[in-house]
Amino acid sequence: MNGYQRRNSVSVTVGGVTIGGNAPIVVQSMTNTDTADAEGTAAQVAALARAGSELVRVTVDRPEAAAAVPRIRDILDAQGVAVPLIGDFHYVGHKLLTDHPACAEALAKYRINPGNVGFREKRDRQFSTMIELAMRYGKPVRIGVNWGSLDQELLARLMDENAKSAQPKPAEAVMREALVVSALDNAARAEELGLGRDRIVLSCKVSNVQSLVAVYRNLAARGDYALHLGLTEAGMGSKGIVASTAALSVLLQEGIGDTIRVSLTPEPGGARTQEVVVAQEILQTMGFRSFVPQVTSCPGCGRTTSTVFQELADRIQTFVRKRMPEWRQRYPGVESMNLAVMGCIVNGPGESKHADIGISLPGTGEEPAAPVFIDGRKTVTLRGAGIADEFQKIVETYIETRYGAAAADPGQNTDRRADTAASR
Ligand code: SF4
Repeated sequence: MNGYQRRNSVSVTVGGVTIGGNAPIVVQSMTNTDTADAEGTAAQVAALARAGSELVRVTVDRPEAAAAVPRIRDILDAQGVAVPLIGDFHYVGHKLLTDHPACAEALAKYRINPGNVGFREKRDRQFSTMIELAMRYGKPVRIGVNWGSLDQELLARLMDENAKSAQPKPAEAVMREALVVSALDNAARAEELGLGRDRIVLSCKVSNVQSLVAVYRNLAARGDYALHLGLTEAGMGSKGIVASTAALSVLLQEGIGDTIRVSLTPEPGGARTQEVVVAQEILQTMGFRSFVPQVTSCPGCGRTTSTVFQELADRIQTFVRKRMPEWRQRYPGVESMNLAVMGCIVNGPGESKHADIGISLPGTGEEPAAPVFIDGRKTVTLRGAGIADEFQKIVETYIETRYGAAAADPGQNTDRRADTAASR
């Protein structure tokens, strides 16, 4: 990849999933159910895991939530959902983990917010308790700083020092520095207490794109801790998606970030799994990982005046996502496949030839026929009202032939791909 080099970081294992080092960038998500509702939370965790979330965080905010965590783990295990659970603790984490050993055991990682651990002498004692519990149970922690809950004593001290300096910096720069110092000081304290660096992940989340980029560049330059990356409170809909993508893409391209979460506000009634889809699409679009076959489609224009083209593109996109859980099990490598759904003859045949399978619909005034291209060659022309169904069947057959055979004979798949690449 052009100029891309992953930053060196210490790898951390979270319930069998590796974050950092040379491991692939991990996708994670967070539930928005009441954790005390074990059945409801387990159902959402399972949905997030099936969508592709490799770690799932749950709020542990009170005794009822802590008591439900082992039950959530049991329900997931009974369903064969092995995704590691992370507990998100604020204010009372030291007490909840002490009082609920089964919760401490069932969780694969503890998230500690240094701004919400307590004040003055209580702060150090409660932070130490959480780190000691992490060591006792053999769990890693994320020291997750957030500008909405930044350690106010630290910020006040840095502001005072800045005010007395010969060349005071803007308040924004001091706040950014405070985020990084909070993460690094608390990580150093955890190490002093005996927690290994291979058990520590850091994050410094803010909701402003330029601040996030500046903070993570600074954090990455000052240590080799594994980094959890995310734009906090990114927002809703396209605003949240664009803001998260803009921020994360800049940093990921610089090799910064070992695990990501996209913090979207769901639309009313919208699926929580959207944040997983967006995270995967960021990583796949940038070429870092492959999760699901990519569907290339043109925007349409005056040459596609009916909705047939949009409907087909939407159906194929939905079909691919829906079929992926089964395909993932049966057809290794299918996630690297490319499909093209194009609106007319102008770019349709050309783009379709670059995909593994492509279809070019008839534009306005064209002959009512949709040529299908497989591995760069025109194979069949579809006509009439059943184009979408027929195209889906062609896609299924192609996957079975190419990736089903590959599962039985990997060498055959390698040869086939080489042939395909050479034929383009
Ligand atoms: S491929 Fe055809 S329909 Fe699609 S944007 Fe280009 S000209 Fe328009």
